[in-house]
Amino acid sequence: MISRADLHSHSTASDGKLTPAEVVVLAASRGIRLLALTDHDTTHGYNEARAQAYDSNIRVIAGVEINTDSALGEVHLLGYFPDPEKPALQAVLSKIRTERLNRAEKIVAKLNTLGVPIAMGQVLAQASHQGIGRPHVARALVAGGWVASVPGAFESYLGSGKPAYVPRYAFAPEEAIRLIRSAGGVAALAHPVRSGSEGHIPALVEMGLNAVEAYYYDHTADDVARLREAAQRYGLLCTGGSDFHHNHSDGRRGLGSVWVPEEDGERLWEALNL
Ligand code: AMP
Ligand code: MN
Ligand code: MN
Ligand code: MN
Repeated sequence: MISRADLHSHSTASDGKLTPAEVVVLAASRGIRLLALTDHDTTHGYNEARAQAYDSNIRVIAGVEINTDSALGEVHLLGYFPDPEKPALQAVLSKIRTERLNRAEKIVAKLNTLGVPIAMGQVLAQASHQGIGRPHVARALVAGGWVASVPGAFESYLGSGKPAYVPRYAFAPEEAIRLIRSAGGVAALAHPVRSGSEGHIPALVEMGLNAVEAYYYDHTADDVARLREAAQRYGLLCTGGSDFHHNHSDGRRGLGSVWVPEEDGERLWEALNL
């Protein structure tokens, strides 16, 4: 399958397992010509990715994924930036990351009460940056032999409603969209099918949404067609990507496993004036 753009990927700057440079090298080797690094709540992987891109014949866009909660459920937003070094943007992302660290401490405390003697240091050992999340706790639980697998850790402890669950720092979709737009960025709704957020598109458009992730690893052809139609109706760009975190043995969510038409990538590139 020819893959030209992948606009949703994670690195060690958040919960991915490859460094930003490694993500770029892998993307280039899979035939991707345009890559967006969209780590959770940080753009800190961008400079390393950008530097590697010169050697790898690939273009890189600075991005971020911000997970928000609304009365209607989880809404994950992707931000794409012409230049992520805007003080107002970085200040808010830094605040969200600080709150992630606070939350990890609370999760560890809950686990200790539940009889799992995990230490914060074991969790931090799984994360190379402070963009810490439940996947790092899950990996520490696996490493310590308390659970058999990462999905098992979510099932037994970390998932919503499970005994060690701690909610994220409350951030609303409208705040995230405003933050992205005021930094000159493009705001896209991530994986609307998986999040069950497709029905919120009209409301999110009112809040300033610019794009929808029409292409995603678990989207059927029907999903793609429906989301492309919605994009046309609301004047949104179409984005898409693999949501790559690491290499899965079954090849799902691999870089280049999602086909994003080149013209959609180019439209995003142009919208960012790059
Ligand atoms: P957080 O942002 O810390 O709440 O963690 C959310 C991240 O955890 C998501 O972006 C996924 O990468 C991962 N995740 C969520 N649910 C699961 C699950 N059931 N199994 C494995 N990973 C999950
Ligand atoms: Mn993730
Ligand atoms: Mn997401
Ligand atoms: Mn993601």
